[in-house]
Amino acid sequence: MTRVAVVTGGTRGIGRAICQQLKADGLRVAAFYAGNDEAARACREELDILALKCDVAESLECRSALKEVEELLGPIDVLVNNAGVTHDMALHKMEDAAWDQVIRVDLSGLYNMTRPVIGGMRERGHGRIVNIASINGQKGQFGQTNYAAAKAGVIGFTKALALETARKGITVNAVAPGYIDTDMVAHVPAEVLTHIKADIPVGRLGQPEEVARCVAFLAAEGQGFITGATLTINGGQYMV
Ligand code: NDP
Repeated sequence: MTRVAVVTGGTRGIGRAICQQLKADGLRVAAFYAGNDEAARACREELDILALKCDVAESLECRSALKEVEELLGPIDVLVNNAGVTHDMALHKMEDAAWDQVIRVDLSGLYNMTRPVIGGMRERGHGRIVNIASINGQKGQFGQTNYAAAKAGVIGFTKALALETARKGITVNAVAPGYIDTDMVAHVPAEVLTHIKADIPVGRLGQPEEVARCVAFLAAEGQGFITGATLTINGGQYMV
């Protein structure tokens, strides 16, 4: 049977590369996105996948979009919680909205997406969940208390759910990228990026396709013995 995958934030950057890789691996793929209809249209046309507008911070939207995927494509076998945003500022200047937005999207989004699908995966005895964390959730980063807290939370969520589901044929893993060449990093000021690149042993940013290959590896049907793990992909920037 052809497996079905949902990738949040699947229409741009790392998520789009994940959709492309999973589709190439033979899965039926649905990408969720926040509001950029142009990127979603390009995904539908170029990758030939389903792209649905669904804000992962809104639990009711997630339930209804996941239901639509199940009606159109079938039960969900693979969930990739990739959607994420940054809103950087030092804590002494941080506004409540910057804290709330990042926690709601990057952390509560995992709950909103995973809660509706976990029961079906348990019943069917198969599931692959891959959560996109970040190097900055592992080591911290100036100006990112909100983002680092959310991404560290992603790793904790991953381990706890891995324990809950280990005997149900479900694996739950995280992938923690370092700096990857996407729109998110394009917003980092040039002088800061120069310092960041100097800290990356391989001497360059990562490519979205390189993260996508890690995700596809963890999402493979035959890969049932890695669970609760965090796979780092950071050009050697942080050796954990
Ligand atoms: P991009 O900013 O390039 O793309 C973000 C994607 O997420 C878009 O498809 C966007 O949709 C979607 N999105 C944003 N907010 C929401 C939301 N509330 N609900 C649903 N979809 C949403 O990000 P990246 O590809 O760079 O990052 C992907 C993931 O990887 C994130 O979790 C990020 O934190 C993580 N990461 C990225 C790193 C990097 O260096 N790039 C490093 C480490 C981790 P739309 O197009 O509609 O806005």
